[in-house]
Amino acid sequence: MNARILLVEDEPAIAEVVQFALVSEGFQVVWRSLAREAEAEWAAAPYDLLILDLGLPDGSGLELLKRLRRHSDVPVLILSARNAELDRVLGLELGADDYVTKPFSPRELAARIKAILKRVARPAVSPEAPPSAPLMPDSAFAIDPVRAAIRFQNRSLELTRTEYLILKTLLAQPERVFSRAQLMDQVWPDPAASFERAVDTHIKTLRAKLREIDPTLDPIRTHRGLGYSVQIRPRV
Ligand code: CA
Repeated sequence: MNARILLVEDEPAIAEVVQFALVSEGFQVVWRSLAREAEAEWAAAPYDLLILDLGLPDGSGLELLKRLRRHSDVPVLILSARNAELDRVLGLELGADDYVTKPFSPRELAARIKAILKRVARPAVSPEAPPSAPLMPDSAFAIDPVRAAIRFQNRSLELTRTEYLILKTLLAQPERVFSRAQLMDQVWPDPAASFERAVDTHIKTLRAKLREIDPTLDPIRTHRGLGYSVQIRPRV
């Protein structure tokens, strides 16, 4: 695996351990110790994954993650000495893919990174790939699994990876009610990283995106105490 990883960590001893563990697994690692250096590096070259410390000398890693998520869906693993539930939930809500607490096992860290990269790997688009097709003749949704894209009322939705996975799961079985835990399983298979509130946040942003296209339809339904479902037929 030759994935390129940007490590944002201000403690040289930790950075050294992480670099050693990942390079010996075949990853290419670039290390930056300041948030602004990391952002400059990020803007200059593409990376397959970011490892992000939360306590950085020139700002919070969460702020960096928030800025990054405005324009990028790159996988992010938070590596933090802070094990506060709030940090963990905030990190996942802001779009982190995993959260590892210091002290950590370098081997476990490498395994988690491999799991994230495997999860986000998408098949290359083959020339004979079918175009996005409506789920049903009168459905408002069309899904294109090869391009990991979903159309709503014949317009492309700009979705984050998490939103795509949640909506794809709902659309796989229209009208079926999925619990938050079931949706979490599709998005973060690691139960330790599962937080139901994070699903609510993604559902909220998904609804806003659907509303932008068609304010008259509200196809995602909330089932109190149960979870969510989607209606694929436009309402009359
Ligand atoms: Ca730090």
